[in-house]
Amino acid sequence: MTPPLVKLKVPGTTKEASRVRYELSNPKLLIAGIALTLAAVASVEFLPARTLELTAPGLANGPYLNTSDGNQANAAVKWVNVKDKHLRCHYATAAANYLGCGLTYVLNGADPSLGRDLSGFDTMELDLAYKGPSAFVRVALRNFDPRFSKAEDNNSSRFHSINLRPRDIQRPVELELSELTVPEWWVGQYNLAREYNRPGFENVTALSIDLPVVQAGEEHELQLRRVTLKGHWVKRDKVYLGILCAWMFGALLMVLNGWAQLRRSHLRQQREIDALTARTRQLRVEQEKLRRLATIDELTGVLNRRGLEQSLEDFEDSARGMTLVTLDIDHFKHINDRHGHDCGDEVLRRVAAVVAANLRASDVFGRWGGEEFLIAGQGTRLREATRLAQKLCDRIEESEITVSGHRIAVTASFGVALAPPGGSTADALKRADEALYRAKEAGRNRVEMDKTLEGTPTTI
Ligand code: GH3
Ligand code: MG
Ligand code: MG
Repeated sequence: MTPPLVKLKVPGTTKEASRVRYELSNPKLLIAGIALTLAAVASVEFLPARTLELTAPGLANGPYLNTSDGNQANAAVKWVNVKDKHLRCHYATAAANYLGCGLTYVLNGADPSLGRDLSGFDTMELDLAYKGPSAFVRVALRNFDPRFSKAEDNNSSRFHSINLRPRDIQRPVELELSELTVPEWWVGQYNLAREYNRPGFENVTALSIDLPVVQAGEEHELQLRRVTLKGHWVKRDKVYLGILCAWMFGALLMVLNGWAQLRRSHLRQQREIDALTARTRQLRVEQEKLRRLATIDELTGVLNRRGLEQSLEDFEDSARGMTLVTLDIDHFKHINDRHGHDCGDEVLRRVAAVVAANLRASDVFGRWGGEEFLIAGQGTRLREATRLAQKLCDRIEESEITVSGHRIAVTASFGVALAPPGGSTADALKRADEALYRAKEAGRNRVEMDKTLEGTPTTI
């Protein structure tokens, strides 16, 4: 009998696995991610810029006039109109080795080391007016760096400047803050390590607009209308880096999530497979039990008629031929009648045990029905089978069968026949039965052989 088919769930082909794949590429998540990305990019591009008007009233202290002669009273540099930040500069004589003039806004308060962080701004919009012979108007920012700047030395705050030609400032001009560089004279003055000379606007303490080099006798007019710093609330590169990181993090989460789901589903499927395997094993055991029950005689434990027939079919298919020995207990009805049915059953068990104990492993033995048994030997000659039958006949007679204290004399009669290779088993059984009948007729407790095919070889 073939075992029942058990349908196993094979991992990777279940709905579960395809659901996992679906979640990994969930279009809703992707669309949400793309929408968020576009919103973030748009927020950088279209959010109003961050502005700071440095010259707005109250923001910085000043404006103060810059003068080279150190004597305000001398009035070489003076306001035309302080409210309009409009100054005039005229040195009648060379009051100092170096003559310059301009205005300054001071961004720190009482503490000269505390400036304003302008590093978040990108550009500076300047609205200036200049009239005079100077080749340049200088725009400068000073940054107090606590690593080397000293509160008592204004000049030690790092200087950043750009020289603008008068024609460049005829209209409002927008400078990149990166256009302001640290001039060589400042670098040379302090002999600082290279990294201290890099531009930086984290702590700006002063803004000045001036004419760096003027000559005695010249007339200059300078007006500062407005200085506005502009920048983004969020730095563009930071946003893009954030977007990139968010995508990478999202991708990592999706991969981890997919991996965890695959693992969970794999474990679940593994459990299902284990359960099915165990169930299949259990079914096989039960099936084997049933198969044995179907072919085993319950009373004696040897093959029943069905089991015998199966074995005979197997023997028929082989080319070796076989001998059949039929065994019938003598006067069994009498044993039953005299000692009871249970005692009869015990006799059947004992006779089966005696026969089984005297057979070869290759012999097939079973209960054909009632108190009749059958022994089939493959490749055995008729005379050998007869000798075996005689031996069994003797063993049964010699066996001391005692049931419930009563010794029961048991004998049996035997019929032996040959089923040659390719011959009919049914015919051989019939001839063995006929021989058995003759044994009964001849007085029982004996063996009779069917001589029809005597001398026929058992193997083709
Ligand atoms: P013979 O020597 O001619 O074979 O005589 P016999 O009495 O053995 O043969 P008969 O066919 O007249 O009787 C067989 C008896 O076996 C009849 C039946 O009740 C008994 N029998 C059949 N199967 C069983 C069984 O399983 N248990 C018991 N106790 N008796 C059984
Ligand atoms: Mg009988
Ligand atoms: Mg009998």
